[in-house]
Amino acid sequence: MAGVQEAREGDKQGWRRPQLRERRVLVFPLPFQGHINPMLQLADVLHARGLAVTVLHTRFNALDPALHPEFAFVSVPDGVPAEVAATGTIIDIIVAMNVAMEASPAVGEALASVLADEGQPRAACLFIDANLLAVQKAAAALGLPTLVLRTGSAACLGCFFAYPMLYQKGYLPPQESQLYMPVNELPPLRVRDLFTSSKNSHEKVRRVLARITETVKYCSGLVINTCETLETTELQRIRDELDLPVVLAAGPLHKLSSKSTGSSLLDQDYSCIEWLDTQLSRSVLYVSFGSLASMDSHEFMEVAWGLANSGHPFLWVVRPGLVQDLDGLDFPDGFEIAIEGRGNVIRWAPQQEVLAHNAVGGFLTHSGWNSTLESISEGVPMICRPQSADQMMNARYVEDTWGVGFELEGKLERGKIESAIRKLMNGKEGADMRDRAKELKKKVADCLESCGSSQIAVDKLVSYILSL
Ligand code: UDP
Repeated sequence: MAGVQEAREGDKQGWRRPQLRERRVLVFPLPFQGHINPMLQLADVLHARGLAVTVLHTRFNALDPALHPEFAFVSVPDGVPAEVAATGTIIDIIVAMNVAMEASPAVGEALASVLADEGQPRAACLFIDANLLAVQKAAAALGLPTLVLRTGSAACLGCFFAYPMLYQKGYLPPQESQLYMPVNELPPLRVRDLFTSSKNSHEKVRRVLARITETVKYCSGLVINTCETLETTELQRIRDELDLPVVLAAGPLHKLSSKSTGSSLLDQDYSCIEWLDTQLSRSVLYVSFGSLASMDSHEFMEVAWGLANSGHPFLWVVRPGLVQDLDGLDFPDGFEIAIEGRGNVIRWAPQQEVLAHNAVGGFLTHSGWNSTLESISEGVPMICRPQSADQMMNARYVEDTWGVGFELEGKLERGKIESAIRKLMNGKEGADMRDRAKELKKKVADCLESCGSSQIAVDKLVSYILSL
């Protein structure tokens, strides 16, 4: 493991630790839940190591400073038109935000005033999300180094780097007849697992990913929310490709941060923890499709009946916007009676606490990277129902590389959902996956120990920040 080796050599040299709040880091997350969480977790980790933190955030999905009194907050105009903010895809919003930020001096002015604030320790660098090339350009104009936090997997970043090659070799755009063809250059991925978006044109996705690659290639250091044990080969490939002073795997960040759930955009319903307290050990299936994925009302009914008919206790997150063509929650007739005493439906969960609860025995997930890491960290096996972006490749790693879950493929039908739940929660295959999930949890926990690769990565990061 090159990263561990490199870090251990550094350890012998003795990493420098900051005098209390001697230096400051600025962080600028992309304003979506799956990007905000890891960025604020990283900020928390750096704060705990003695650095001061200033969070820059957009008005779109604005953060609540009251949740983090230990950080300074600065609001930056994002320029996203109201119509795009209300109805655009995440890719539309990323494009609109970058266009507006490049056209206006607002980001540069906000950064300049943060840097000029003599009441705060000197800023060493700015951490940005890889989607914020416009912010990197504004920082470069002020001579402020940027480091990138990649909130997805190392495999996903490797896929972004490979995108031009994937087009050149004809893997992309994906052809129906080739979906199960292996991508020899990126094992274990098949064409269907590559990063795609059904709601955006290939050309638009290509342009956005090319900008991510540019942001990463020209930054002053890269941190990825993963760990050496999960993605040894994928991290090596990235280190071989990039010429950066540091490429660090410092995750899972939520396990290193003391305030892992302080950045939720929706109120988390803690009553579900009391409900879980009343359930038997490993008996409950937790069901959540993250902050962006959606389904139509027919699929929603199928999931509802699949859960009801499985006979298992379940905790289901039905967030506003999950069902595209329903205004309010409209459960099928007889559903509530069928699940009485064993089904609990809530709007938004304290997901990390839920997954860590002893009553939870499985996770039906959309396979977002944070959800995947959070599940692995607690040893919870998964039924994967990926939709778009990096979710297919995360599901592929869960099933094929780590063996801690399986994908629920094809149309969402109640019978298939019911048998997938039985397979995970009662079957021999499910028991094997649970055993492997326990082993993987242990390996990831080892990375988080004081001499583990992720802790060493953080030591190295702090030392590097102080050198800037
Ligand atoms: N999450 C949460 N409560 C919920 C569902 C999700 O706090 O009810 C959090 C979850 O813990 C994770 C994030 O939202 O940190 C979702 O990120 P992920 O990458 O899994 O998916 P995305 O929402 O970006 O598709």
